Amino acid sequence: MRILLVEDDPDLSRQLKLALGDAGYAVDHAADGEEAQFLGETEPYDAVVLDLGLPKVDGVSVLERWRRGNVATPVLILTARGSWNEKVAGFDAGADDYLTKPFSTHELMARIRAVLRRKAPEALDTAVEVGPLKLDPATRRVSREGQEVRVGPTEFRLLHFFMTHPERVHSRSQLLDRVWGDHVFIEERTVDVHVKRLREALNPVSCSQMIETVRGAGYRLTQQVQSQPMSA
Ligand code: CA
Repeated sequence: MRILLVEDDPDLSRQLKLALGDAGYAVDHAADGEEAQFLGETEPYDAVVLDLGLPKVDGVSVLERWRRGNVATPVLILTARGSWNEKVAGFDAGADDYLTKPFSTHELMARIRAVLRRKAPEALDTAVEVGPLKLDPATRRVSREGQEVRVGPTEFRLLHFFMTHPERVHSRSQLLDRVWGDHVFIEERTVDVHVKRLREALNPVSCSQMIETVRGAGYRLTQQVQSQPMSA
């Protein structure tokens, strides 16, 4: 996921870039409206965090020009405290959501996830197959060669995420973001608990080793480790 951060305050920019990077986003930064407008028109971002008070061209004008030019990227605006007019102007110009300064990085992440979700709700109903494992969200079934695997609701979502993003390593905080969504205050250890349960659930069909622990990095679903043939 690529995010364009438009903010002219150097300290806040640095802080937000770090936080967004930690959350797994690729971040480009623009410090004025002109640069922002150019980047937004030429690069395919998944979302934009747009401060409204900017040098050269103000944020509302940037957003208006994007929308007139059919740039439909979701935009989260940053407004000064108490500036109701700014907020209204931002929404009129086509903002998707706003945050009032000062805000916490947790709040920012939750809002970004929300605009991203609204933009592209994942194809939740499409059945996925990775190696011998099959998961069908429509019927909420996981199976291997017709043998059903019983998984709890959280493990189901976790497995669904792994299966739609296979072979990639996901950190605990990324998994919390993507699987648990807005419940940002859940401890990372929770992920370990559910991964353990998921492995246990996959044991009867000999697929537990498909969920790999990558030391110091997180977890990944892989089919490189040949799954064991099913024992009777
Ligand atoms: Ca500013």
